[in-house]
Amino acid sequence: MNAANELSLSDTDVSAADRAQGSILFVGTATVILRYAGFTILTDPNFLHRGDHVHLGHGMTATRRTDPALELEALPPVDLVVLSHMHEDHFDREVERKLDRGLPIVTTPHAAADLTSKGFRAAKALSTWETLTVTKGGARVRITSTPGAHGPGFLAKMLPDVMGSLLEFENARGESAFRIYITGDTLLFDELKEIPRRFPDINLALLHLGGTMFFGVLMVTMDPRQGVEVIRLVKPKTAIPIHYDDYSAFQWALGDADHPPDDPHGWWRGTNVMSFEEFIAMAKYAAPGTEVQILRRGET
Ligand SMILES: [Zn+2]
Repeated sequence: MNAANELSLSDTDVSAADRAQGSILFVGTATVILRYAGFTILTDPNFLHRGDHVHLGHGMTATRRTDPALELEALPPVDLVVLSHMHEDHFDREVERKLDRGLPIVTTPHAAADLTSKGFRAAKALSTWETLTVTKGGARVRITSTPGAHGPGFLAKMLPDVMGSLLEFENARGESAFRIYITGDTLLFDELKEIPRRFPDINLALLHLGGTMFFGVLMVTMDPRQGVEVIRLVKPKTAIPIHYDDYSAFQWALGDADHPPDDPHGWWRGTNVMSFEEFIAMAKYAAPGTEVQILRRGET
């Protein structure tokens, strides 16, 4: 492995107790705080609020329908960021202004170049299937970029490159002890089949759903049914949907069947809402060995 694909955070050792623990906090959109094996990892930081607009390029805008569970200023110390791609609902203007410019950000070559030009000094580009090994004292996590397609065919060229990521946390004996797969904003496509071949034992999968529509007609992220197919494909022990209701461009949301969202602003107009229960039932049928957990914003 070449030196460029290694990142050493500090020599301070991580206690055995911390090495053995793990938790995940869902902040909103695709933003989660993962705490595993002594590392604190932030994904796709998006701290905009209800009513804020984002620009997605080519004149596309979307309105945020939800608030983040946590303010950007209240973020705990994090070791690094994993960013699936450069879109404002994944790395917003506030984050761009306020995030520590020395924080390592592991992302696509496209996003890394963009971040570097904006003054982020520690952006790390990963091409598909490339791995970065991160150490902190004796603790180690390997981050591998997995395939993603943010749109069908010609549309993919109009949208930024996107990656999924596979995080392998090691235990104190140096064995791969916990594997997390984060899909990124991708559609279901053939190259995803390689993921379970290379990583047959995935403990946790975080699925970016929402069925985001581009120009109102072309789907650029998975809807819940495609999410179920990914669960069938990678067979994680646990699957948690994220990125499922936060923006007006998400036209296939997950939600509570008994509590349809009140909609004074019309942000939910045209949105199909699948209930959490129906999603869980479909996933159970497709992959009986997988447990789907629903995390609400702010839940751990
Ligand atoms: Zn997105």
